[in-house]
Amino acid sequence: MRFTDHFIQEVLDRTDIEELIGRYVTLKRSGANLWGRCPFHSEKTPSFSVSPAKRMFFCFGCHAGGSAITFVQKMENLDFPDAVELLATRAGIPLPQESAQGESGGISRRRIFEMNLEAARFFRSCLFDRELGRDGMQYFRTKRRLSDATIKHFGLGFAPNSFGALTDHMHKLGYTDEELIAACLCGKSQKTGRAYDYFRNRVMFPIIDTSGNVVAFGGRVLDDSKPKYLNSSDTPAFKKSRHLFALNFAKNYASEKMILCEGYMDVIALHQAGFENAVATLGTAITPDHARIFSKYTQRVIISYDSDEAGQNAANKAMRILGEVGMDVRVLKLANAKDPDEYIQKFGADRLRLALEESKTGFEHKAERILSKYDVSIGTDRIKASNELCAIIAEYSSPIEREVYMDAASKRIGIPVDVLRNSIEQIQRRRHKVAREKESREAQASLKNYGDRINPEASKNPRATTAEEAILGLLLIFEEYRNAVERGEVPLCREDFVTEFHRRVFDAVMSMHARETGFSPELLGADFSPDEMGRIQKMVVARQQLQQNGPAVFRSAVEVLQDVAKTSAAKEGDLNAQIAYLREKQAKLHKGKADKT
Ligand SMILES: [Zn+2]
Repeated sequence: MRFTDHFIQEVLDRTDIEELIGRYVTLKRSGANLWGRCPFHSEKTPSFSVSPAKRMFFCFGCHAGGSAITFVQKMENLDFPDAVELLATRAGIPLPQESAQGESGGISRRRIFEMNLEAARFFRSCLFDRELGRDGMQYFRTKRRLSDATIKHFGLGFAPNSFGALTDHMHKLGYTDEELIAACLCGKSQKTGRAYDYFRNRVMFPIIDTSGNVVAFGGRVLDDSKPKYLNSSDTPAFKKSRHLFALNFAKNYASEKMILCEGYMDVIALHQAGFENAVATLGTAITPDHARIFSKYTQRVIISYDSDEAGQNAANKAMRILGEVGMDVRVLKLANAKDPDEYIQKFGADRLRLALEESKTGFEHKAERILSKYDVSIGTDRIKASNELCAIIAEYSSPIEREVYMDAASKRIGIPVDVLRNSIEQIQRRRHKVAREKESREAQASLKNYGDRINPEASKNPRATTAEEAILGLLLIFEEYRNAVERGEVPLCREDFVTEFHRRVFDAVMSMHARETGFSPELLGADFSPDEMGRIQKMVVARQQLQQNGPAVFRSAVEVLQDVAKTSAAKEGDLNAQIAYLREKQAKLHKGKADKT
């Protein structure tokens, strides 16, 4: 359902945006606004602002922006009605009756959670079925040495080798094909269009969010068939890049450190051995979103990836991404085992605990890999090793860290610290230059609105776009301009807008202005995506930063649009418009002549 303006207003009135955002971001007051490090992009200095007075947020780095609802949408990956619902529940406001059945059109998150929970129960009952679950149980109990307690703790299950077992079961519970496909529990047959079981003949790992909802599943084959792991695709209730397996348990043991593993089985083996702070990404490489999740729960992450080449390369990438949000990152080195699961089976939990304590800092780990490639008693090798070491030391932004690592490197390869320092400074200067050039290229590109996803027509119509942004910025801020347009005092209508996105914003602003509840930028979120809300907020912020926002500015922007419309109509060969345009031009010419005489 669609909530009424009145209800949404009440939810916003009873939501303290400062307190809400403060739960995710550490905010410091400076002037009228609060500032913090943006939760939507990785940064070290704060460019994320919250205005408690205006009840809006805006990031000057990535241009995310909008209301408390937009914030929750982006942060929790919710659509607008679900975000309103969450804030309403938080504020203790009872929901209007209909909304419990989910919103119009799409299938609600709550419905998907229900279906997933039923599916998890079904998979578990299959696993514990003597006949049906024999192979699955053998895999967990014998091959992986999991106890029944662990199997139950993680809610593990088994998907039978059938195209209809789960589908039939869910049909009996009243779920439709459409719903099962939307939840990614079923695929859709190309031939018949009917639903069929997506997971077949696999051991099943339910993925549970920190609120206890089953959001998705991972399934692993028992033999060598491909793909080895199959995960739910993204659904309205699940985004792979934003979930960590076992975070629902690990969050309670995370204060000191967390362990990042490659796969579900590593995590489960670690938890069983008493390391309940282990998590894994869901069949994807680690993303900046994941890094920000870690930073919410802990200071230190120990990466425990497979010891093969692929695993080590992935570990290097993870180190960089986690480093970008200021994590203390370490790497676990497991001698004589390919992964933590095997290590525990071979050497036991106590040895692993020792290995974790001795885990190397990111620098030590990388330095060791470099030094193992070279014989530093040979001149040419020493130069190569020194160059590679300087290149990684130059990546650290803290001068203290650089000094510590330079000292260590100097001792290892026998080159004086000062020589290393010169070389590192040179690398840093070169990198700064490259970064500056890249930044200015990007700024240029964004000036031209090149590759603009939100307003793809902007790049083709730069003059109109600029005028439209000025008009909309002013309409969004000042009621008097909205009144002037409504009363026809300024000749502006939807057809004057060249770009479709801006036309939509104009329509939404003017129709909301005409409504009885009046205009409130926060309510635009019902019609625009969070990214679009960021763009709308950018137009507001851009105007607020300017001194000149008077009627003359507004009128001249409107005139630009009308001029653009005339010339483009003429260009496009619209005959009537062309004639009208020429006539008008002629009339002006005549008038000019008449004036002269
Ligand atoms: Zn940002």
